Amino acid sequence: MSQKIVGVKASVGIAIGKAFLLAAPDMQIKTVAIEDAASEIHRFEAALARAKADLQEIAQRVETEMGTEQADIFRAHLLVLEDPELVDTVKDKITQEMTNAESALHDVAQAFIGLFEQMDNDYMRERAADIRDVTKRVLAYLLGVNFFQPSSLTEEVIIVAEDLTPSDTAQLNRQYVKGFVTDIGGRTSHSAIMARSMEIPAVVGTQNITSAVQASTLMIVDGHEGVVIIDPSEEEVAHYTRKQAEDAEQKAELAKLVHNQTVTADQHHVELAANIGSPADVAGALANGAEGVGLFRTEFLYMGRDDFPTEEEQYVAYKQVLTSMGDKPVVIRTLDIGGDKHLSYLDMPEEMNPFLGYRAIRLCLDRQELFRTQLRALLRAGVHGNLKIMFPMIATLEEFRQAKAILEEEKHALQNSGVVVSDRFEVGIMIEIPAAAMMADVFAREVDFFSIGTNDLIQYTMAADRMNERVAYLYQPYHPAVLRLLRNVIQAGHKEGKWVGMCGEMAGDPVAVPILLGLGLDEFSMSASSILPARKQLSLLSREEMEKHIDTILQMSTSAQVEAFVKTTIMKDGI
Ligand code: PEP
Ligand code: MG
Repeated sequence: MSQKIVGVKASVGIAIGKAFLLAAPDMQIKTVAIEDAASEIHRFEAALARAKADLQEIAQRVETEMGTEQADIFRAHLLVLEDPELVDTVKDKITQEMTNAESALHDVAQAFIGLFEQMDNDYMRERAADIRDVTKRVLAYLLGVNFFQPSSLTEEVIIVAEDLTPSDTAQLNRQYVKGFVTDIGGRTSHSAIMARSMEIPAVVGTQNITSAVQASTLMIVDGHEGVVIIDPSEEEVAHYTRKQAEDAEQKAELAKLVHNQTVTADQHHVELAANIGSPADVAGALANGAEGVGLFRTEFLYMGRDDFPTEEEQYVAYKQVLTSMGDKPVVIRTLDIGGDKHLSYLDMPEEMNPFLGYRAIRLCLDRQELFRTQLRALLRAGVHGNLKIMFPMIATLEEFRQAKAILEEEKHALQNSGVVVSDRFEVGIMIEIPAAAMMADVFAREVDFFSIGTNDLIQYTMAADRMNERVAYLYQPYHPAVLRLLRNVIQAGHKEGKWVGMCGEMAGDPVAVPILLGLGLDEFSMSASSILPARKQLSLLSREEMEKHIDTILQMSTSAQVEAFVKTTIMKDGI
């Protein structure tokens, strides 16, 4: 009998495949005194042997399926495990200090990593990353926990996990990961957002998928309905295979709009842009007809690695995005780390409320060396396209002024040293904190544009954590409180002649789109896969008519009323 599990719709599409259970390894290392060094060394050698066997097998598989370059990564890992310098030092430590293998390996590896990381040489610093990866694999065997390396997947799977961090998600190989399902998370958690930009069907917040499914069991992920079917019957497989085909047909139909402008029924043009997380997403954005990039979440450049990206690496990435987009606008947001996004190599204080804490512009104004490196890369890349720089999580005017002053300082420093810097870029802010939304008139005098980050704005307005499925009922995009804030921001921007966009997930929501059109939003930025459906919907809507509904909507008392009104009055006849 198949089993049905319901969760939160995170990314549309149907996936059918075998479950790959991803256990979050508990890698806490305890130091324990031992009595028998010989048997501890034996345990260490056994773990080494298993890790080596793994790596040999992966290297071979990867060689045939992906090529030599990728396979070499695993061969380099094997070399680390065969290095007597490392292996013998661990054994000596076990014998001399009568300590357990986990602790000895961990300490020795840390010492090696520290040594390599200090070297002023990229090759050597990469060796530090190899040692870190390989050590984890051996430690996982010693501790008896699963070890997962996303890049080592070589067959089509559906990932099942308690949670996927944004950096896990960023490393998923689209070729093999057909879908994913998690126990926790909401629609605007970053793994869900990533899934949409990678066009991987996903259901999150199921609460119990990890205990309900066993490894290699066949399962179906229905991202349209937020449903997962474990061990489906033949009829169910046939039904969802048909749905997959229907999806493909609908996609082909919408694809005809790829090169069209986005024009409403009353000939009003709005811009539909894509949210991206890496230069690799640009192809998907263009293939889906994006008229620009409305949000490049640069923090993803910082993830899945062992150290900060250099100015040069960032420059190359920004330039690549700007060049590929040609004249089209590209809004690049400065680093927004913190909240649910972490960097393994950046020590961050444990916080009670990370979403209210040390994140985004707050961290950047404090750790200015990080901020300045990014700004220099952006300023240099700006000459290659239509750049707009955006600061996230601005709460006060002082923050904006300080961020902008730092940008100006870096610009002048670059110019003084003879570097060509673009002069035509705009500088704007995200409106995602209610204080900024209320003060939009004041900000509008000094910024070039606003982009409304509703993912955060809603959680702060309703005091409902965007990651917490237990309070998901309070996460209400159509609540009149949220809509009134949006009106305030859009009107304030327009009064000063500034354009106003939205890059939160709400911008691509079919119930929200008519309201946003009526409110006068200029730019809608969304996951690439939502662009063509939104273009089609907008072509059937009249802006003038939507404007007429706005006062009625803003006077409603509840989110449910607004939703019912839009669905019954506006979204009919195929809209
Ligand atoms: C937002 O808050 O709406 C937004 C676009 O930023 P992020 O989802 O990265 O916090
Ligand atoms: Mg945000």
